[in-house]
Amino acid sequence: MQVFGLVGNPVEHSLSPPMHEAAYDELGLDARYVTFEPAREAVAAAVEGADALGVAGLNVTIPFKQAVLDVVEPDDLAARIGAVNTIDFSGDAVTGHNTDAEGVRRSFAHHDVALDGRDAVVVGAGGAGRAAAFALADAGATVSVANRTVETAERLAEDVGSAASAHGLDALPELLADADVLVNATSVGMEEDVSPVPADALHADLAVLDAVYAPLETRLLRDAEAAGATTVDGAWMLLFQGVAAFELWTGRDAPIAAMDDALRAQL
Ligand code: NAP
Repeated sequence: MQVFGLVGNPVEHSLSPPMHEAAYDELGLDARYVTFEPAREAVAAAVEGADALGVAGLNVTIPFKQAVLDVVEPDDLAARIGAVNTIDFSGDAVTGHNTDAEGVRRSFAHHDVALDGRDAVVVGAGGAGRAAAFALADAGATVSVANRTVETAERLAEDVGSAASAHGLDALPELLADADVLVNATSVGMEEDVSPVPADALHADLAVLDAVYAPLETRLLRDAEAAGATTVDGAWMLLFQGVAAFELWTGRDAPIAAMDDALRAQL
């Protein structure tokens, strides 16, 4: 039996185990997906221990996505983003990957939203914002990063390179006027029914992805829908980062519909 899992703290409410186990059931794989909650200072030992025990693969979530960079060989994308959310133990080296970026790219592809040559706005410059900005820039979009703390946006834009620029939140109406794509990568909308983007800045030519998935129907997505925009909820990003991890670990096409059903049944 292969063992996969999630390392984070806390992980008790994770939606990933049923999503991955639905894929194993669908394909008849002898595998399980379990959660691990090491103490903050023990994450390196946990990853090394998982390797020694023959664990096949691990997802990594808050607060460990940066810390595990010290104990894996990150691929180019994970190194540029500066965060790992997927560890693969199958090769000679323990490798680290970032499938949150793939989650963003495939969420748009699934909704037939083109990115190449488009103008994209990313609100937020934390872990999800970094993954989104690199995903969009690598797909050929021009990326404007708007963040409450402008210095963090500046650092991200500098890391992404010439395709990106940095702004404060007050620039959003101007940035969005000509934009094709918007990603909310802040946590705004989780705790309260508020949006990080003024409703009157949204328009029908936008495709809007909200990384927030609890709640699924955020204020931002309701405003975007009212403006006639294409909306993509946060469960798509969560689904496709899981799909990408599954495919990396198993080398097989993921049963996307089964994983989506299992994920949405929990939301
Ligand atoms: P993070 O690293 O802590 O970053 C949080 C971001 O939100 C920062 O840019 C922060 O701005 C901004 N922010 C927080 N409170 C704000 C406020 N009141 N007003 C304006 N901006 C505010 O968190 P993260 O890991 O990137 O996660 C961000 C969100 O994405 C969360 O809701 C998370 O659940 C979601 N997420 C979803 C997926 C998915 O697969 N769907 C994957 C990853 C994350 P400052 O820099 O100014 O603090």
